[in-house]
Amino acid sequence: AGAASLALTLSACGQSGEGGSEEKAGDSKGGTIGISMPTKSSERWITDGANVVKDLKAKGYKTKLVYGEDDPDQQVNQIENLITQGVKALVIAAIDNKSLNNVLQQAADAKIPVISYDRLILGTKNVDYYASFDNEKVGKLQATYIVDKLGLASGKGPFNIELFAGSNDDNNTKYFFGGAMSVLQPYIDSKKLVVKSGQTKLTQVTTLRWDGATAQRRMEDILTSTYKSGNVDAVLSPYDGISIGILAALKSDGYGSGSKKLPVITGQDAELASVKSIIADQQSMTVYKDLRKLAQVATDMVDASLNGKKPEVNDTKSYDNGTKVVPAYLLQPVSVDKTNYEKELVDDGYYTADQLK
Ligand code: BGC
Repeated sequence: AGAASLALTLSACGQSGEGGSEEKAGDSKGGTIGISMPTKSSERWITDGANVVKDLKAKGYKTKLVYGEDDPDQQVNQIENLITQGVKALVIAAIDNKSLNNVLQQAADAKIPVISYDRLILGTKNVDYYASFDNEKVGKLQATYIVDKLGLASGKGPFNIELFAGSNDDNNTKYFFGGAMSVLQPYIDSKKLVVKSGQTKLTQVTTLRWDGATAQRRMEDILTSTYKSGNVDAVLSPYDGISIGILAALKSDGYGSGSKKLPVITGQDAELASVKSIIADQQSMTVYKDLRKLAQVATDMVDASLNGKKPEVNDTKSYDNGTKVVPAYLLQPVSVDKTNYEKELVDDGYYTADQLK
């Protein structure tokens, strides 16, 4: 059902034809902008694609929107095609942040400005601006929620926790995990939090391409190998799709029925399925990032770059891509659970009350 409804949303927002694959680049006032998104398997990127298209159209541009299906080679090919088709600028959310070096040299040779969207592209000088959220804060919000819910600050514990991180080829992963661990580590050190699996290093806990099924398998393995006695009290999960996978593993192990309470479990993106899960007392929280604002920031960057203006940035030191510090505009993420989802998500118009039923 998930895939079907994603496909529906997609056709509704015109992913394949939006901006018109038949339209020739360059014949509107502002020309055509290429938008390269990582995958349709997660709702957030479908929303991102639709928002960026809408905002660019409002600014007088045409658009070509492509999705790389989580395959870095496919994304490189798609961007090459966009360059060949004569796009005036590129908005890119990378799949593998290190795979775009050559293709972005082609963009630079064609004098095409590149906006790194949400995820920082690494190892190339040919990325002009970065539009994202305060990614370290995302991790801090997740971890702080766990600390608060378990009552760790008031001395409760010890509790068992398991840790999950995102894809190792996504630059955001280390910021999310680093932010979270800056809050959790003191409690791990004082043994108020115990990672029974022993898997605490980032390299041990990443989830390739943020895949929920991969996370589900890892959680199942941990439950079988490590929790013959004792229960998991909290799970640090970096993303809603991963949280849903983890919850499935927990439930098939008997959590959520009888005396085996579901652990505190975090998330990110405020995807519809997860907000519903939060309302149903399954997932505990998510980190809401207003994608409408992100699209606005990124498309303002495009528009300014193409009109000889300086895009607005609010951070010129945090995001070094290994070759240069990329000037960034970082938005603020918000912690959302059952107590504030109406205020943050419904009153704000991000979702309608009906969508959450
Ligand atoms: C984004 C997150 C998202 C994740 C998986 C990250 O780069 O910042 O919002 O949950 O990718 O798609």
